[in-house]
This record gives sequence, structure tokens and C-alpha cells, in this order.
Amino acid sequence: MKIAIVRERADGETRVAATPETVTKLIGLGATVSIERGAGAAARFPDADYQKAGAALGSAAETVKDADIVLTVRRPGVDVLIGANAGALVIGSMDPYGNESEIESLGKAGFTAIAMEFMPRITRAQVMDILSSQANLAGYQAVLDAAVAFDRAMPMMMTAAGTVRPAKTFVMGAGVAGLQAIATAKRLGAVVSATDVRAAAGEQVESLGAKFIMTDALKDASGSGGYARELTEAEKAAQAELTASHISKQDIVITTALIPGRPAPKLVTAAMVESMQPGSVIVDLAAERGGNVELTKPGEVYTTANGVTIIGYKNVPARLATSASQLFARNLVAFLETMFDKKTKAFAVNWDDELVKATVLTKDGAIVHPNIKVAA
Ligand code: NAD
Repeated sequence: MKIAIVRERADGETRVAATPETVTKLIGLGATVSIERGAGAAARFPDADYQKAGAALGSAAETVKDADIVLTVRRPGVDVLIGANAGALVIGSMDPYGNESEIESLGKAGFTAIAMEFMPRITRAQVMDILSSQANLAGYQAVLDAAVAFDRAMPMMMTAAGTVRPAKTFVMGAGVAGLQAIATAKRLGAVVSATDVRAAAGEQVESLGAKFIMTDALKDASGSGGYARELTEAEKAAQAELTASHISKQDIVITTALIPGRPAPKLVTAAMVESMQPGSVIVDLAAERGGNVELTKPGEVYTTANGVTIIGYKNVPARLATSASQLFARNLVAFLETMFDKKTKAFAVNWDDELVKATVLTKDGAIVHPNIKVAA
């Protein structure tokens, strides 16, 4: 049973799917582990540490040769996987929506692609939830990025030369990333308000000491699995009215709103950005999915004509490569632990396990996941 980890090839990807710590754990499960030379370099895990942990180092081709499992942060191309065993599990974030033909290619090449982002949000799988682990870090980093771009202080400061007022920070979307952003902004001393379309988020926002803002027109837009549903046109209009009146008074806006499988909802219009004061900062954590802000340029940081800096980094967890890799790699190990027998160390996938059923995209040469459809 060989587990392989190759260097991530996506532009700007600094994370790695295994750390020396998780290599030790994988070997403890009964596997041998191979890792491509330099795979952990961008996340500051040197080759020597992987070797000490018991991994074999090699080229990409040597690493995947005869592998039964390939662990990855982002979906690899088939070219990287050539040489792995037929039916090998390729486990990582697969970003399947909009990339159905790439998923199909993995299937046709005989690989079993497993999308960690489809992990059900049930108690047993919390430890395997890459969306949560990465969103937590992204929410934190978003506030730091905002603070650095903001040319005033975040906390209230009483000095002999006078008082600096605290920054008003508004967080849109109070899921995992948003709640972490609220907590971080509070720790930096900002005055924080937040909104969400799920009524349950209100209590969580308030428990962090922030003010929850929601229009009466929108009672609750909870969808399935703890996620939000898309708003109706009337609800969108009510939300936009509320946002417009609130946002013009904010110094920092952090947007995190997402709806599973859909482009990010547009919450902040160009007119709303224009209503903000020069020097204000917006961080759009939804940039990778098109952005919550009309003026976001995904992947870019720029300042608008009226002096508002819009930060649209596409892969914020990669800005915290070490921590993000540590958590991601542990999420993967936790999932793999369910596939190894603790006593005999035998490896066997239980295809009927709800975690496996929810995450397997391809098997035996074809797409098997009901949500992934390839256009004929
Ligand atoms: P997400 O990344 O899909 O979305 C981020 C937030 O944006 C959500 O809170 C969502 O309600 C909000 N949103 C969507 N449309 C919006 C709009 N038009 N305006 C404002 N906000 C909007 O969600 P997430 O962060 O992954 O988490 C969603 C929920 O799932 C949270 O309640 C979280 O606590 C829960 N959760 C549960 C588990 C578990 O039980 N294992 C694990 C992780 C998260």
C-alpha cells in the first residue's frame, strides 16, 4: 500500500498535502509513503524532515509509480498521475463544478477521484472538513490583509496627542470564514458588525461581541446541510437596501458569502463602493468564485478612483502555507484512518460508507457522483 504526494502544480499554490507529522501517521496506518522532492518547500517543510519521518523522496514519476493513493491539495492533471496503479484513489480538493471534463478525464484514466470538499457536515467528519479548516485560516488572514492595507489604526487608541477612533469593520457572510474574521477583527480592536442570510448565524455573531444586521424582509434563507440557499429577487433587493445604508459608514468590509455549487452572490455594487470613504478597504474572500463585490478583480489588489482598496486574492489559505498545509494534511489523514484496519493494518475502502459515497466522483472509468454531470 503506497501513498504518494506530489508537488502542487497550480499557479501560486504553496500548500502541500502531507507534512512530516502526517507522514509519520500514514506510515503508522501501515502504508509506505513517497513524496516528490521539494513538495513541501513552499510551506517550509524541508525534504530532510519528510525523510526523517520515513518517506521516500523522488521525482514526480518515481513518487507516483505504483501508488495506490495520491494525496493532493488541488486536483492534479492526468499527466502527473501516470504510473500510479489502476483504480488509485486521488484524494484532495477537486473543485468539480465547472471542471466536469477534467473530472471525467481522471475517471477515464482509471483513477478514483475523491473530492474532500464534498465531505458531509456531520459530527464524525468534522475532523476531515477541509472547507472549515481552510476557511478558518482565510477569515483570519483576510483581516490581517485588510489591516495592512488600511492606513489607519484598527483599535481605539487614547494617546497624549489625542484619540484615534476604532475602525468600523463589516463582515458579510458569517459562516466559518466570517466568524473567524469577526473574532480576529474584534481582537484587533475594531468595532464589528456582520450580516448573513441564515438566522442561526445571528446568535453566533453576537456571541463574538459583534452586532448582527439583517433585514426584516429576510426571515431565514437556510438551505440544506447548514448552507445558505440563493435569495429571491425581492429578498436580494431588501438585502441590497440594508447593505447600501450600512456600508457607506464602514472602514473595512470583509465579504465571505458563498452558496454551494453556485457563483458567489453579488452583494456589494459599484455604487456601494463609491459611497465609501477614501482609504477604506474591502477584502473579497469569494474572489475565487467570482467575488461578492461587483468591482473585485479576482487575483488582484487595486485601489478604485474614489480611493477604496479592493483585495481579491484567489487562494487566501495559500498565504498561510504552513498552517494551511498542517490542517489540510490532518484532514486527509483523518479520512484515511477510516480506510485502514487498526489491528491488521489492512487497507480496504468501504464503498458503502456515507463519507465515501458523498465524496467519490469517479470509479471504474466513469463519473459516479450524482452532482457531477458532463455535457454530452
Ligand atoms: P459557506 O462558505 O458556504 O458560506 C459562507 C457564509 O455566507 C454562510 O454563512 C452563508 O450563510 C453566507 N451567505 C450566503 N449567501 C449570502 C448572502 N446573500 N448574504 C450574506 N451571507 C450569505 O458556508 P460555511 O462557512 O462553509 O458554513 C455554513 C454553515 O455550516 C455554518 O453555519 C457552519 O457553522 C456550518 N458548518 C457545520 C459543520 C459541521 O457540522 N461539521 C462544519 C462546517 C460548517
